[in-house]
Amino acid sequence: MTIAAFVHSDAPPVAIPVREALPWVIFAGLILLLAVYFVGAEEGATSIVKGMYVHEFVHDGRHLLGFPCH
Ligand SMILES: [Zn+2]
Repeated sequence: MTIAAFVHSDAPPVAIPVREALPWVIFAGLILLLAVYFVGAEEGATSIVKGMYVHEFVHDGRHLLGFPCH
């Protein structure tokens, strides 16, 4: 099957079960927010883990994503 045949097929569209997916979407969003917190804000006054271990662990990602660092 080519891409053109797939795009122009007469098959009915597949419904996305939002009610079933919603808890997983919320869970993934919370994990994403937690990851953004650890990469972007886990330092200094906003730190919840003592020391610089988390900061140093995600340091390259911090620079890669453009968060202010040093
Ligand atoms: Zn840095």
